[in-house]
Amino acid sequence: MRTLLAATLAPDVVDKSLAQVVHVAPSGRYAMHTALGWLISSLIVLWVAGRQRASAWALGYLAHLLGDGMQVPFWLPFRRYDFGEVMELDDFLCGVLSSAEGRKGLLGEMLLLVLALLMPAMARAESELCRNEANRSL
Ligand SMILES: [Zn+2]
Repeated sequence: MRTLLAATLAPDVVDKSLAQVVHVAPSGRYAMHTALGWLISSLIVLWVAGRQRASAWALGYLAHLLGDGMQVPFWLPFRRYDFGEVMELDDFLCGVLSSAEGRKGLLGEMLLLVLALLMPAMARAESELCRNEANRSL
């Protein structure tokens, strides 16, 4: 579950950080939003963590790309894409916060992020609780 959640966040965390914070990528949807990024990262997870986690990674990652719709450079570097001008983080936030729909979308994204960050702690607490109950019943 943690691997799947991490995979759903990875493309945005990497690409948006590289574009809007470090300023080395032309868009917040760049290398990690491609078929090649999906394939390479899935192979790395397969090599490092095994088949089960690699399957979860590939599925979560693909769900992210599908969720972004057709607005990703999926075939980069095999096809050219026009990225336009990179939007600075503060300009992006001003744009998002200036409309009710943007604020609702940002709130939804933030709630999902908080849930994703809390999932590992909740899973750990649940397994500890189950272990304690099993020990009590012995
Ligand atoms: Zn994305």
